[in-house]
Amino acid sequence: MKTIGVIGGMSWESSTEYYKLLNRHAKARLGGHHNARSLMLTVDFAPIEANQRAGDWTALGQQMADAARQLERGGADLVMLATNTMHRVYESIEAAIDVPFLHIADPTGSALRAAGVERVGLLGTRYTMEQTFYTGRLRERYGLETVIPDEAERADVHRIIYDELCHGKVNDASRAVYLRVIEALAARGAQAVILGCTEITLLIKAEDSALPVFDTTALHAQAAVEWAIDAE
Ligand code: GLU
Repeated sequence: MKTIGVIGGMSWESSTEYYKLLNRHAKARLGGHHNARSLMLTVDFAPIEANQRAGDWTALGQQMADAARQLERGGADLVMLATNTMHRVYESIEAAIDVPFLHIADPTGSALRAAGVERVGLLGTRYTMEQTFYTGRLRERYGLETVIPDEAERADVHRIIYDELCHGKVNDASRAVYLRVIEALAARGAQAVILGCTEITLLIKAEDSALPVFDTTALHAQAAVEWAIDAE
């Protein structure tokens, strides 16, 4: 099996989900005592979150490129980034390494296309919902039209990610907020919803949602394991 390199820590609450999912998928594919061969580099989220708020994507690109290089030096055959938001700087990462980089929007876009979805709701940080790096890739590569929450809803979705989920706080009241936002996306024509932040999986399960759920954490982890096994 090839070695998967994960840039984690943004927040570590979602990195623990990745760690579990990578190993569970490997066991599901190979059985027995199989694990996913992996390395995780946990970065310190505090200076990264500060740079996000400051809009310093150049510094963030350098920080992510350094982390990717460190994983490659450690023997990673593939690098993945355990956050949707930081894919804003994926070009800096790709340019820094010789091994492949698995973009989180790709397994998500493929799964949506395979399910016949054309118009999809997107939940994530403000950066992911409002900037074009994510919705643009879904449109250009997968022909998907995205629907994002309105301004007040986006503020709630973003706040709950940073103030609660990134600290491991999972509240029923916040789940109710998210479920109402998903209903509003459905009313505006979304056929499915992307959990486009890797901590949302802690809050929303498929059975709660008015729309079919495409969980980027689960889809990304599964795609990495499939690559690691099939590329061998
Ligand atoms: N993990 C989150 C995401 O998938 C947000 C935290 C961050 O990395 O900024 O976008």
